[in-house]
Amino acid sequence: MNPIYSGLPTTIFEKMSAIARETGAINLGQGFPDAPGPRDILESAADALLTLSNQYPPMAGLPELRRAIADHYRRHQGIDFDAASEVVVTSGATEALAAAIFAILSPGDEAILIEPLYDAYAPLVRRAGGVVRTIRLQPPTWRLDPADLDAAITARTRLIIVNNPVNPTGTMFDRETLTAIAERCIADGIIALCDEVWEHVRFGPDHVPLIALPGMRELTVKIGSAGKIFALTGWKVGWLIADKALAGVIAKTHQFLTFTTPPNLQWAVAEGLAKPDGWFDSMRAGFAASRDRLVDGLRTAGFVVLPADATWFVSIDLAASGLALDDVTFAERMAHEAGVVSIPMSAFYESDPITSIVRLCYAKDDATIDEAVRRMAAFR
Ligand code: PMP
Ligand code: GLN
Repeated sequence: MNPIYSGLPTTIFEKMSAIARETGAINLGQGFPDAPGPRDILESAADALLTLSNQYPPMAGLPELRRAIADHYRRHQGIDFDAASEVVVTSGATEALAAAIFAILSPGDEAILIEPLYDAYAPLVRRAGGVVRTIRLQPPTWRLDPADLDAAITARTRLIIVNNPVNPTGTMFDRETLTAIAERCIADGIIALCDEVWEHVRFGPDHVPLIALPGMRELTVKIGSAGKIFALTGWKVGWLIADKALAGVIAKTHQFLTFTTPPNLQWAVAEGLAKPDGWFDSMRAGFAASRDRLVDGLRTAGFVVLPADATWFVSIDLAASGLALDDVTFAERMAHEAGVVSIPMSAFYESDPITSIVRLCYAKDDATIDEAVRRMAAFR
């Protein structure tokens, strides 16, 4: 019998959360909040489950949700998309990524990925037969040098994946960097797959969607996720928007991945997206306060924390904090000896990783953050 072997790794999130489950450690590894989520959205999902259809919704998503997504981006980001032909609802951003990558890449096509990178990108590109080319952001500011992009582009470059705000660094690309990316995409007909799931979770400047830059409408696929916007990571309701031709091609792969997404969750997300601006402001204020609490606690305990003003993550620099351990050893020892789970930054590299940085998720209640800091202070 032929061995069946996909060549795919076990994700770092699964590995580190398994340690948390086995040991009862505080889990600041995998990114998920410990709050139950917005009550009205949960109730609306429960109501829809009991009172509305639980049969297959339309393949591209409930019309009500597609309209809500289009309205949401018109209101928040000033971009105009046709709900019926340019919005596709997916089972989480992960499925949107898979559908887009499988639709766009043919075997041998090259995809440019930016390290440190979200862990799903490279395995999906490879399973599509694509070739991964990486460029890197440099700590502590994690800026992108457009010259690196120039050096990575070849005649076979088909796609660049741009995650903004960036997980795991917690930083954002500024308009100048996005413009530099757009210029290359336009010059070489490269499609930008923009993973913008963290677009609302940012505490500094406004989010600039790459798809809004001149010349990028036909070249960009923009991906979002209700899991991040409403802090309901288990829901796996995501979407993509792109111009009609591109959205239509990606919808074809979506048909054969999941076809559709649970209707009651789609109803509830449609309602949530219409929340007033103030809701989004207070959501951000809540997470900003948690970030500040963890960062202040860690700094007082002698850790050097890298600047981060988006996502649910901050990073500590072990070497700068006077700790001689590499990130994997530190994360394993801290999990087992101190009872705090983190994610080693090297998990977000394809090769030759940076090994002195560890990522922590601060989307936790105050008592959990304080206890984690206490344990980490005692451990160091
Ligand atoms: N992209 C990024 C950058 C993420 O951080 C995540 C999840 N944390 C995802 C995609 C996956 O989102 P979803 O759970 O909606 O599939
Ligand atoms: N995106 C989450 C994180 O960065 C994890 C998602 C997952 O476990 N697949 O922690």
